Amino acid sequence: MSRPLESFVRQGFASATPYNATHHDLAWQHRELDRLMSNESPLPPSPAVVQAAMKAVAVSNLYPYSGEDLRAALARLSGVQAESLVLGNGSTEILDVLTRMLVGPDDEAIIPTPTYAFFETQTRLNGGKPVFVPLTESWGLDVPTILRSVTPRTKVIFLCSPNNPTGNSWTGDELRAVLTAGVPTVVDQAYLECGFAESFAPLVGSYPNLVVTRTMSKGFGLAAFRIGYAIADPWLVDVILRVRIPFSLSLMAIWAGLAAANEPDELDRHRRYISQERERLYRELQEMAGVTAYPSDGNFILVDVSASGRTAAEVVEATHREGILIRAMNAHRLHGSHVRVTIGTTEQNDRFLAVFPNALGLDSVGRHARA
Ligand code: PMP
Repeated sequence: MSRPLESFVRQGFASATPYNATHHDLAWQHRELDRLMSNESPLPPSPAVVQAAMKAVAVSNLYPYSGEDLRAALARLSGVQAESLVLGNGSTEILDVLTRMLVGPDDEAIIPTPTYAFFETQTRLNGGKPVFVPLTESWGLDVPTILRSVTPRTKVIFLCSPNNPTGNSWTGDELRAVLTAGVPTVVDQAYLECGFAESFAPLVGSYPNLVVTRTMSKGFGLAAFRIGYAIADPWLVDVILRVRIPFSLSLMAIWAGLAAANEPDELDRHRRYISQERERLYRELQEMAGVTAYPSDGNFILVDVSASGRTAAEVVEATHREGILIRAMNAHRLHGSHVRVTIGTTEQNDRFLAVFPNALGLDSVGRHARA
């Protein structure tokens, strides 16, 4: 062949930095470790969900249908019309489709940081330019700077509420102020069902430029099924349906999701459990020397470990040696100073609280153990 293979691949693809999901591989290779690193639910699916999925497994020689029943059930739960909701293979697929739809070469995407890294990776993959607007010192949304950053090239504003990794949420007033820019604004509400943050689904009817993305991976605890969705103006939903691949949800996912959507009491139980354990962990971390913990509406807590004298990587490594996986947050202003811990089972959380002071290199009264 005369032309090198590279010359056929679209510009920027071969050198793309993908969203890093390697921490999942490590956790699956070491099932004995407590996986408090990727914001999964520690609660297994209910018997009804397992049974529904097994029924689908038994007929998995057949292609699935489009999941209109799951779409209707999730629309009911979200208080919107089914025509305003579109399903995806996790909210990951929805976010990917939205970015491909909106962002082309040299377009701009406004991203308040620190936040979920996928917004940046997909913007860059499509040749776009992320325009970062730092959160304030106390993790507040800097609305004036966001509005000032809008240019004719701005194609999307990405917000995340509750925000991964800081844990706090934006208010309806803040969101409405951002929406006045008239730019498509995607609000990722993946963690909504893990606590009591405000749902922005009701605003979609009044703001055609608002897209809310949600998932059954977190509060519902169905991460392996890959069920996500967007709530948006019906016109935009129709465009997403044209761009999205067909059969993006498996039959297992559709039927399991439907079973879970029909058990609202189970979801409430998950929400209360996660919220109670999160508040317990937060209180205990507040008492602990060498760390600053931040309040959270999600199923995780961000912890600044810089006062311990150890780096985030050292703390993660030491926690790993004690059998627990947590994550160093390396994006943006958090480099080297912050870790994020996911709310696990009561037993896992107890173990984490027991080993964390050691991992910080501090004894129980907060002195440096090595001193
Ligand atoms: N948004 C945020 C903020 C997340 O943290 C994650 C998962 N880590 C996702 C979206 C992706 O979730 P899903 O399983 O729905 O693809």
